[in-house]
Amino acid sequence: MLTPELEAFIVRMPKVELHLHLEGTIMPRTLLELAQRNHVEIPARDIEGVEQLFRYRNFGEFLTVYMALVRAIVYGEDFERLAYEAGIMLAGQQVRYAEVMLSPMQHLLRGMDMHEALAGTIAGFRRVERETGLLVRLGLDYGRQYGPELAWQVLEIAQATMSQGVVAWSIGGNEIGHPPEPFAEVFAAASNAGLRLMAHAGEVVGPTSVWGAVEALRVERLGHGIRSVEDPALVTYLREKQVVLDVCPTSNLRTGAAESWQRHPLRMLYDAGICVTLNTDDPTFFHTTLIDEYRKAVCYFGFNADDLCRLVLNAISAAFLPPPEQALLLRRVTRELTALRSELGV
Ligand SMILES: [Zn+2]
Repeated sequence: MLTPELEAFIVRMPKVELHLHLEGTIMPRTLLELAQRNHVEIPARDIEGVEQLFRYRNFGEFLTVYMALVRAIVYGEDFERLAYEAGIMLAGQQVRYAEVMLSPMQHLLRGMDMHEALAGTIAGFRRVERETGLLVRLGLDYGRQYGPELAWQVLEIAQATMSQGVVAWSIGGNEIGHPPEPFAEVFAAASNAGLRLMAHAGEVVGPTSVWGAVEALRVERLGHGIRSVEDPALVTYLREKQVVLDVCPTSNLRTGAAESWQRHPLRMLYDAGICVTLNTDDPTFFHTTLIDEYRKAVCYFGFNADDLCRLVLNAISAAFLPPPEQALLLRRVTRELTALRSELGV
């Protein structure tokens, strides 16, 4: 039950966000301003019009809206603004560390310079770090529907920007008809280059997609992975191999990946001993915030203060940070959680 004390704890507790797409954080006002300034036609004229677009019957519809709107983001300075606004939004929710993905193909295919986009993004997050202390690392999320051949040039961009905070390589986009296996060589090369590995899997497609991601791509973390619950052998495998599931419940409800709150498997996966983290995915497109996801963990899944702390500590253990930075973050967050729990009596 969401008591006033638990509500206060959720608002004030230090948090970590590991599954967040930069483009999915764009605020409707920013979207409209960028579209106008960059002379990009989008199917909305005002904030209400933008909000109207955020209704989807399935993942495909979500992807279509997403692709139509992100065209408004064109220049390095646009990415800098997005990153700055996203960072302030995160810091305002007491997020101490975040990993943020960019999806390069949708921008590259419009002729954009990804180095300019990344430089802007990095500048925006550095400014947030100076102002708030929020630490952000980046990942490139390759749209699997574009096939493995084009992934190599995106991987080159990722490698070239590793010294500036790009730490992760991932595939996302349309899971249907685009299994993980053809990307095995690209993922092996990314790992050899020192990038950490993730994949969106088990969101729209079932356990076969997750098996492919863990066995062929050897990922450390899965975006969503919720349909793993359909295969008990897979659940055992994920627990034993300590593969992390970055779960985004509201996203799953909004895209139809989960039928209802009652049928969402977050609690089952958590109780099965899998390392689960809680995330927002695309907060603007799914009308959510990280604070809301924590509230929902309590209201829909019966999580208590211990469980909420476990979710944050899971995320720290799963963060793609070097061990000394990870240990520092763990110490800081543990100290803050302990102090806050004793202050609020939760
Ligand atoms: Zn995602």
